[in-house]
Amino acid sequence: MKAAVLIIEDEVEIADLIKLYLNNEGIDAFHADNAEAGFLILKEKKIDLIVLDINLPGMDGFEFLQTIRKEYRIPVIIVSARQDDNDMILGLGTGADDYVTKPFSPKVLAARVRANLRRYMNPEESEKNKVRQIRFSDYIVDSEAYLIKKGDKKISLSPREFEVLLYLLKNAGVPKTPEDIYKAIWGNNFGDLTTVAVHIQRLRKKLEKNSTLPEIIETVHGVGYIIRKEILS
Ligand code: CA
Repeated sequence: MKAAVLIIEDEVEIADLIKLYLNNEGIDAFHADNAEAGFLILKEKKIDLIVLDINLPGMDGFEFLQTIRKEYRIPVIIVSARQDDNDMILGLGTGADDYVTKPFSPKVLAARVRANLRRYMNPEESEKNKVRQIRFSDYIVDSEAYLIKKGDKKISLSPREFEVLLYLLKNAGVPKTPEDIYKAIWGNNFGDLTTVAVHIQRLRKKLEKNSTLPEIIETVHGVGYIIRKEILS
């Protein structure tokens, strides 16, 4: 079953960009350019998550959120242009699940959408995975912020690379097959498994001292990949 996201955003170019990124992730996206149109789509379609702009013509995002929270529990990611709004979003308990500040990277927003969808669709799994900070080797990973650092230096990983790493970290000590990884990250059984190898290769290039002699993501011949518990701290 494909997930469906409702984007409520009056700037059509931004909405189109978000839509493009979500579609590339295999997520359906509907667009409303004001809150009232958003209500109609919400009533008609099965929506799994809302990306909500605050500054809208007519009813604003905050009011929209308050209204739908009486009926709907689906995750809402707020997109706001002003830094000040963040305090409001957090302080007032508006019922938002997450927020991003404009200008934002559509890649980061798509990753947040995926993380929130996963939490919403698999509450048990997200409970189990609550640990936010994971330390391994010389690295610290913040699983919620999609951030990985070595000392003060941020390492740049794509959202998918990050998710593959996180999956192996959360299953440390257990070898995972490319099929396991594909299913967990890409969400189905029918993809091209070489994608997994490509992502592992990129992760090794970015994380390992010597990517041909990996010490972080090891290969288990005939099985797949493992991160050993010994490197976790
Ligand atoms: Ca706006």
